[in-house]
Amino acid sequence: MEEGVGGEEYLFKIVVIGDSAVGKSNLLSRFARDEFDLHSKATIGVEFQTQVMDIDGKEIKAQVWDTAGQERFRAVTSAYYRGAVGALIVYDISRRSTFASIKRWLDELNTHCDTTTARMLVGNKSDLENIRDVSVDEAKRLAEEGLFFIETSTLDSTNVKDAFQIVIREVYNNLR
Ligand code: GDP
Ligand code: MG
Repeated sequence: MEEGVGGEEYLFKIVVIGDSAVGKSNLLSRFARDEFDLHSKATIGVEFQTQVMDIDGKEIKAQVWDTAGQERFRAVTSAYYRGAVGALIVYDISRRSTFASIKRWLDELNTHCDTTTARMLVGNKSDLENIRDVSVDEAKRLAEEGLFFIETSTLDSTNVKDAFQIVIREVYNNLR
């Protein structure tokens, strides 16, 4: 995190983690460019995207990092996590195995980041209600241990902006 001249500018590094194909890259493209990609490639070629937002009249630059597919090889590096002040930990509500992996992702986050890193558990693909495999209740129970929780759909845009904004506001509030 960096504070600019006069304390008016902030740069927050936010990482997005979770199993392959849960929708991490689409969350990022929806947030940064309002785009959805039906056939998004596992590797998108860029490491992060920066989105400027306003909180209480302060300019916040959210630098959001995407794994670019490294998670398939369980090889998300420590450089990826370095300096992160916020994290979105994503699973797919229609695939229980991705929810089961959350504990491992939290362990990894704890290894690389300190406890002040703001955490948001994200149940993505809420549009797939008809094949839901993880209930809202059990996700809320998991999130009781110091995480925010939200369900999103990058397909229909539900809650995508909120997921990022809640984390960014929390980081901002923790500065003071
Ligand atoms: P990543 O591997 O976690 O980065 O996942 P991607 O963003 O590449 O998405 C994997 C697949 O899930 C792609 O086919 C997306 O089109 C699809 N997908 C992503 N988000 C959603 C969503 O909210 N709803 C639905 N139905 N499909 C999604
Ligand atoms: Mg991806």
